[in-house]
Amino acid sequence: MLEELRAALGPAGCLTGSDIPEAARSDASRSGRALPLALLRPASVSDVSAALAICHRHGVTVVPQGGMTGLAGGANPDPASVALSLARLSGVEAIDGESMAMVVRAGTVLEQAQKAAEDAGFLLPIDLGARGSCQIGGNIATNAGGLRVIRDGMTRDNLLGIEVVLADGTVLTQLTKVVKNNTGYDLRHLFAGSEGTLGVITRAVIRLRPLPGPRRTALAALPDFAAVLRLLQMARAQLPGLSAFEAMWRDYFAFSQSLLPYTLFSDPPPFAVILEAPDDPAFDTLLEQAFDEGVILDALIAQSLTDARRFWTVREGLAMDTALPDHINLDISLATHRLDEFACRCRSDLLARFPGAYVSFYGHIADSNLHVTVSVPGGGEAAAHEVDAIVYGIVRDFDGSISAEHGVGVLKRDWLGHSRSPAELAAMRAIKAALDPAGIMNPGKLLPAAVPPGGGAP
Ligand SMILES: Cc1cc2nc3c(=O)[nH]c(=O)nc-3n(C[C@H](O)[C@H](O)[C@H](O)COP(=O)(O)OP(=O)(O)OC[C@H]3O[C@@H](n4cnc5c(N)ncnc54)[C@H](O)[C@@H]3O)c2cc1C
Repeated sequence: MLEELRAALGPAGCLTGSDIPEAARSDASRSGRALPLALLRPASVSDVSAALAICHRHGVTVVPQGGMTGLAGGANPDPASVALSLARLSGVEAIDGESMAMVVRAGTVLEQAQKAAEDAGFLLPIDLGARGSCQIGGNIATNAGGLRVIRDGMTRDNLLGIEVVLADGTVLTQLTKVVKNNTGYDLRHLFAGSEGTLGVITRAVIRLRPLPGPRRTALAALPDFAAVLRLLQMARAQLPGLSAFEAMWRDYFAFSQSLLPYTLFSDPPPFAVILEAPDDPAFDTLLEQAFDEGVILDALIAQSLTDARRFWTVREGLAMDTALPDHINLDISLATHRLDEFACRCRSDLLARFPGAYVSFYGHIADSNLHVTVSVPGGGEAAAHEVDAIVYGIVRDFDGSISAEHGVGVLKRDWLGHSRSPAELAAMRAIKAALDPAGIMNPGKLLPAAVPPGGGAP
């Protein structure tokens, strides 16, 4: 099989052994490092098709790889599979100003696609912290969220057309630029969030939007969660173009700020919210009104990009990677108005089990998305599993989702039954069987092998 692959893709298109770079052996979750049978590096759609046809004929499994920034282990290879990197299938093919659409190859790094859109006078409305490494194909395969979902939606909301190579090498091309297309099953949405289990995404048409003008950013201190909800309601009603509404619970804000060389609120409030919206007098009016009503206790308004960056640095909390090297970051979603009730229960259940643990919360509140940061000193893998069990158990009780934006991969696969019913899982398995009957695409990812009765605790 390797000889056939080398003949089809050329020597640069099929690497083995020590030629396979470290970066192809594990994604950013660092949840499993392995050397695949080979690393395929197709440079064209027909290369991808030829490679899959060969693997299919030999019954060898294939793990698609984008920028390897995934946080769920979805792109981790295994020794019995070949990994298929899209890195050489990159570049923007066209920008259509009339249709406001970009045709882009799957291996294009997000930041390069963003830059191409900007150079043409448009916004590519997908943005996340990993923009310098993640690829458009990976963004679609994980249905990535990110920082501006409140304004621009998830990746699938900006996907107009798609091209996918199926497991047997069949090329399915639907590179349409039209917004309205009611001609049966919408295949693009099947592949958004499929995490490499249904085929390899090779090209896409992404919707473009007008470039936004200057923005204002504020960091507000709030007394309680009711005030957070009220501020969100006011911001949605009064600030058209609201582009961020990020809340930090006190434990998160206080700890993250303590790791930085500057102080924003010396007495950390119960809640801190970053608000970002177009530069318009309505922004100041809203803050004044919120202050008068007691919704906010205090607010810092960025006077420069540096000020705004300082607010975001506390929210991004990257210094925690060093301060709490073993911390776990869980990414869940549930009804916005119940997020604090959920946070309180998580905190008390986690601290009852691990009294010395650090537990904190922050999130894209308007998208119902909460991140739970937990560190159990010296706890190791066993504690991490228990933390999953506690938090995902509460997510199930609240009818929430165990993955808001990071995907399922291997890390959340066995908890999928907490968010999806047996009927939904059966429908997903039926789709998988129809498109990949030999089961060669990304084995062991996304779908649990079998769900035990009662919801599927692993
Ligand atoms: C610093 C940092 C910040 C992040 N912030 C966010 C955030 O705000 N929001 C968010 O949603 N995620 C975030 N992530 C997670 C990650 O960046 C996203 O999931 C991203 O979309 C993954 O893209 P990738 O190209 O790196 O994919 P990979 O990690 O390479 O792969 C992810 C999954 O997609 C599949 N896949 C990749 N390419 C293809 C393809 N062409 N065809 C079929 N399947 C494919 C893989 O098999 C795998 O299952 C962040 C990660 C980091 C490291």
